[in-house]
Amino acid sequence: MAVPGKAAAFRLPPLPTVGEIIKLFRLKAQKQLSQNFLLDLRLTDKIVRQAGELKNAHVCEVGPGPGGITRSILSADVEQLLLIEKDARFIPGLQMLSEAAPGKVRIVHGDILTYKMEKAFPRHLKKNWEDEPPDIHIIGNLPFSVSTPLIIKWLENVSKKDGPFIYGRTQMTLTFQKEVAERLTANPGGKQRSRLSIMSQHLCTVENCFVIPGQAFVPKPEVDVAVVHFTPLVQPKIQQPFELVEKVVRSVFQFRRKYCFRGIETLFPESGRLKRTEHLMMTANVDPTLRPFQLSMSHFRNLCNTYRKMCDEDPSLFAYNYREELRKKKRNLLKSTSQPKQTEE
Ligand code: SAM
Repeated sequence: MAVPGKAAAFRLPPLPTVGEIIKLFRLKAQKQLSQNFLLDLRLTDKIVRQAGELKNAHVCEVGPGPGGITRSILSADVEQLLLIEKDARFIPGLQMLSEAAPGKVRIVHGDILTYKMEKAFPRHLKKNWEDEPPDIHIIGNLPFSVSTPLIIKWLENVSKKDGPFIYGRTQMTLTFQKEVAERLTANPGGKQRSRLSIMSQHLCTVENCFVIPGQAFVPKPEVDVAVVHFTPLVQPKIQQPFELVEKVVRSVFQFRRKYCFRGIETLFPESGRLKRTEHLMMTANVDPTLRPFQLSMSHFRNLCNTYRKMCDEDPSLFAYNYREELRKKKRNLLKSTSQPKQTEE
């Protein structure tokens, strides 16, 4: 669990407020980029406290925008702050903050989805995976269209111990649409239990810290926002490759409201499907009449381990793609119905 950090420990010199920076540099939020800013520094302090103790830490903030969260991170007396911002309009305002905290801030005008995080921090900060997390934190309030694909990419990085996790179990404090945060942290049986719950919880301790009501943002988004803290686990709960876990979990949740065997069936080609599904469910000790959202982490672990054994026995199995088979069938059907009928002489 994240240990809330101490209150501000480093005093920035007097600066224009975040609101004044927005006016000064004409940083009108772009709706099509889902830009919603946090101007209340008590709130940005509260987000930053969820990351834990940041004194002398190395922090990467993704999507700093006009710099509200950035100020709170600097006030926590970090050693170094790397800012990655895609929209060039924010760079001059961030440079002003950088000048207020000499030697601490590095600004990258770039896209977090393609930025090479394995080179982002000094090598001496690296820790062994089994050790305490390194003194490195990722913090960000990104558009929802970016934060969900990004967390999926970073979960894959956790599983492979690459990207920002070549430094060890780097912690992340990120915002999500409230419903996505609920999915990330949902327990078995919960309304929001989904693919995202299994993929995140099998690799990380995931904590839904608090909800920020939409009206705290300028402009106000349609939805509420939640702050989520992730600490990678020393041992993933499912010890199989990311791609295999992802395939099993995606298949199970394919038919969310049906019995779970309906989704599990789609792991297997049509010929022998029933027999293989039965074998998988029996060996994994999963009741086929449970619904996907009722399955526990150990059910998923058993399913993944047994499916792995089946793939080892038949190496063509992992490449099987149910959707592709459906598409092929549809194409063939279309072809056969669109061919001109032969007229009888
Ligand atoms: N962090 C600021 C705050 O809380 O007020 C701004 C939040 S706004 C929702 C999201 C910010 O992320 C914007 O500044 C936007 O330009 C930036 N952004 C969007 N996509 C990005 C990406 N792929 N890489 C880096 N920054 C991105």
